[in-house]
Amino acid sequence: MSKEEFFDVAVIGSGPGGYVAAIKAAQKGKNVVLIEKEFLGGTCLNCGCIPTKTLIANAQMLEKLSKASSFGIHIASMTFDYKKMKERKDGIVKNIRKSLEGLLKSNGITILMGAAKFTSPNTLKVVGESSCVIRADAIIIATGSTTLDIKAFPCDHKTILNSTSILEMSELPKSLTIIGGGYIGCEFASLYAELGVKVTIVEALDKIISAQGPSLSKFLTQTFQKKGIQIKTGITVTKVNTGANGATITLSDGSSLESDKVLVSIGRKLVTEGLDLQKAGIAPNDKGMIEVNEKMQTSVPGIYAIGDVTGKAMLAHVASHQGIVAAVNATGGEALMHYHAIPAVIFTSPEIAMVGMTLEEAEKRQLPAKVGMFPFQALGKAQATGDIEGFAQVVVSPTTGEILGAQVIGHDASSLIGQMALAIQNELTLECITETIHAHPTMSEGWLEAALIAQETPIHFPPKLKKSR
Ligand SMILES: Cc1cc2nc3c(=O)[nH]c(=O)nc-3n(C[C@H](O)[C@H](O)[C@H](O)COP(=O)(O)OP(=O)(O)OC[C@H]3O[C@@H](n4cnc5c(N)ncnc54)[C@H](O)[C@@H]3O)c2cc1C
Repeated sequence: MSKEEFFDVAVIGSGPGGYVAAIKAAQKGKNVVLIEKEFLGGTCLNCGCIPTKTLIANAQMLEKLSKASSFGIHIASMTFDYKKMKERKDGIVKNIRKSLEGLLKSNGITILMGAAKFTSPNTLKVVGESSCVIRADAIIIATGSTTLDIKAFPCDHKTILNSTSILEMSELPKSLTIIGGGYIGCEFASLYAELGVKVTIVEALDKIISAQGPSLSKFLTQTFQKKGIQIKTGITVTKVNTGANGATITLSDGSSLESDKVLVSIGRKLVTEGLDLQKAGIAPNDKGMIEVNEKMQTSVPGIYAIGDVTGKAMLAHVASHQGIVAAVNATGGEALMHYHAIPAVIFTSPEIAMVGMTLEEAEKRQLPAKVGMFPFQALGKAQATGDIEGFAQVVVSPTTGEILGAQVIGHDASSLIGQMALAIQNELTLECITETIHAHPTMSEGWLEAALIAQETPIHFPPKLKKSR
């Protein structure tokens, strides 16, 4: 490629925000360049969603096999090889990365490997394998986020790890202390506890997954405690000393813990460093976010921002949808971003998934709301497969019947939540759910039964006891 090139649309960063935006812009007939400084696929593919869920799949398989005898299947002895699990994970990431490259090329997108920075609002300098200068009518910033260190004891990636370096571990530690009980910390806790590691979570707030509301937090706390995960809340780590035998972790109450490894999982840093945003006329806000309107436009015409770097909801599917909205607007169309029906999943065992409002959120907003909750224990399919743990719950308006939110805990909650995302996005009511014929026997019947309970007409659940006169 020559030293200076013109493109209709330039996208910086190839995570689930950037690569989806690039494909959408290419579909609109535009000449698109996608610039990536590290690995195609960004955090999600290389050190986020995909590698973690691949390792979690190993733990799920092990958990299922451990129940084999109750299905009449006898496994004489069962062992596992974590090194092979890690190699499988690396292979899957590599394969998807290769497929992604092919997909981008099949859409006629130019891929440049290098770090991009602004030299003006419509020019970028790319430094790296494909050094050059780019001019573009529209630029989409999709630079994502990265791991965050604790200054007092930064990660050494040997004993003190972050969510990226822990994925490079080839041997399991005997014990692991996780600093931070958010969704990423809890997914790692569940994964490693299932693989037999002694896990402790230290969380500064008064509960784990506090962003997901008190009832889900309480459920996960109880589940984790049953699995032997130790949870310390309302306390911080003040010091970590590392040595040949692992780490000594000092807590704010003066007590200490010993652990082979420490995982720091305290949130993410948004990536704007090195972009020379001031040359584009953009200043991130005091939280480091690039502010955008609902068209994903920044304050500078022709420059858009999407994904984690906007600090909205730091999830891959949100980044992708924002990417579609930005690409449509950047190519002469009209699209608006919405955030009221975003499904979120915590891939613990059991899985937790939610969309829209919890009952507590509805109450906080002073919206009248009621719930219908159906335990999976009462479902034929759950009994058949042995996945009886958990429930499906809908939060509805008692006046209009509109579904305001839904939560599901249990086997394959991550797939089940899709039905409720569709319902909330399209303002469906309880009646729409009860009028929909759900296949039998399936876990999705949990939604039908939860909706029937909310309507006070349960079929597979005893009716509410009438008060005696
Ligand atoms: C351990 C973990 C597990 C997760 N699990 C899930 C999950 O199960 N589901 C889910 O929805 N989300 C999950 N996430 C969050 C998800 O990964 C992010 O929300 C998502 O990747 C954000 O996408 P993005 O496109 O904004 O940025 P990113 O995926 O972070 O990609 C940004 C890309 O931009 C590149 N870049 C940065 N600066 C430049 C530059 N100057 N020039 C060129 N390239 C640049 C980076 O190298 C990177 O490749 C997880 C995250 C972590 C850390």
